[in-house]
Amino acid sequence: MNGDALLGDLGAIVGTDHAFVDDVGTYSVDWTKRFGAPGAVVVRPGSVDEVVAVVDWCRARSVAVVPQGGNTGLVGGGVPLDGEIVLSTRRLDAIGPVDAVSRQMTVGSGATLAAVQMAAEEAGLRYAVDFGARGSATIGGTVATNAGGVNVLRYGMTRRQVVGLEAVLGDGCVFGHLSGLEKDNTGFDLVSLLCGSEGTLGIVTAARIRLVPRASHVSTSLVGFATMAAAVRAVGVIRSGTDSLDAAELMLDSGARLVGEAFGVGRPFDAPVYVLIEASADHDPSEQIEMLLSGCEGVTDVAVAVDARTRRDLWRLRDEHTAAIGTKGVPRKFDVTVPVGALAEFIEAVTGRVSMASPASETFVFGHVADGNMHVNVLGGDDDEVIEETVLGLVLEHGGSVSAEHGVGRLKKAWMPRQRSTVDLDLMRAIKRACDPGLFLNPHVLLDTW
Ligand SMILES: Cc1cc2nc3c(=O)[nH]c(=O)nc-3n(C[C@H](O)[C@H](O)[C@H](O)COP(=O)(O)OP(=O)(O)OC[C@H]3O[C@@H](n4cnc5c(N)ncnc54)[C@H](O)[C@@H]3O)c2cc1C
Repeated sequence: MNGDALLGDLGAIVGTDHAFVDDVGTYSVDWTKRFGAPGAVVVRPGSVDEVVAVVDWCRARSVAVVPQGGNTGLVGGGVPLDGEIVLSTRRLDAIGPVDAVSRQMTVGSGATLAAVQMAAEEAGLRYAVDFGARGSATIGGTVATNAGGVNVLRYGMTRRQVVGLEAVLGDGCVFGHLSGLEKDNTGFDLVSLLCGSEGTLGIVTAARIRLVPRASHVSTSLVGFATMAAAVRAVGVIRSGTDSLDAAELMLDSGARLVGEAFGVGRPFDAPVYVLIEASADHDPSEQIEMLLSGCEGVTDVAVAVDARTRRDLWRLRDEHTAAIGTKGVPRKFDVTVPVGALAEFIEAVTGRVSMASPASETFVFGHVADGNMHVNVLGGDDDEVIEETVLGLVLEHGGSVSAEHGVGRLKKAWMPRQRSTVDLDLMRAIKRACDPGLFLNPHVLLDTW
């Protein structure tokens, strides 16, 4: 089918302003600039009915579709590389109202995480998923990737915040569970199944999400440690000593310096290892955190945020890691998890092994220490395969997972047979075929062959 006819048909469904060729790469090149090429057809439906009509049109012509939200994904799963069209959900951005009694809210899949957080805050509540890309990442994208972020240690990943979903499946049927029932044990949990499905089973159009109370006091501090092992142990002590811990983010000296160089964000002190600790409660948790830290070995310095500005600056030191690394080149990104008990050893080992395997490379590690989830970023060096085998092979050696929270996308699909059993993979294929018999919804992610 020629491009004009395709745009004509899709434009008739969604309006001509919302079916176009992306010449500059906003929709067709990913955030890291590693995946994609400008020139893809983009279609932006404005309602569920329009999503159904686009899906029906594509299915009838076997045109593959990549669903896309904010295009902040880091595994190449949301951009077209094989002639797919991009179905952008950005117009499906309705929010609320908040139901204060059930502490739930229904939001369109194209609403950004930041907009949803703000709506929850205005109602005196909080949406517990949070991470640096909040301004662009969408609720649909976070559901499709089962996003994690900085508050997982207290509230769990996105799947735990999702009470219900509405989605258009690959066969054009609308899957609708937005009633908000907290209890519904009538068979398989299909809502959970869609969480983390990376656009392969259906296009999420709306989500019913769970909100949590907003604490009156928040305490944020940056703690310096002499060693990685001391940092990991201390987070364990704090976690067992209080239930107010929201976040524990690990950074290394090299990464913190890079953020300073790239964006002028200062460090209150120098340390080999930093952990950004945030706790919230209905009383000020600072004293308790301080007391717990005083019993920990290896603490070299502590800086406590005294106001909103210093708190924001401490968070910038962490949030800007991904962007600061991006200013030095296109990194190879490995979002991995290992058992917390093996984390310190893993971090020490990964840097050493990568520099041995590829001496011209530079490795930056940071991440969510309480979950054992690190983001290993490797810049430079010239052997992609050797570096990948070194990092992900080490993860498997430590009993970990090659994808902690970003998903598999295109980047890690070759690792699926090494990570998951044949039984698991065959089940995934059967589920895909049940929801998307034409295999045209994001067919090039997750598995090599469906
Ligand atoms: C600076 C930065 C920091 C980040 N920090 C974190 C972090 O701490 N934790 C974390 O988990 N992630 C993090 N990410 C990764 C990314 O933000 C998340 O994966 C996010 O969930 C992607 O949302 P999105 O709307 O941008 O999705 P996209 O990038 O548009 O898409 C991601 C995947 O979801 C699918 N998809 C998108 N929308 C839909 C839909 N409506 N229905 C079905 N499938 C859909 C796409 O096909 C693709 O496979 C970070 C990214 C950046 C750039």
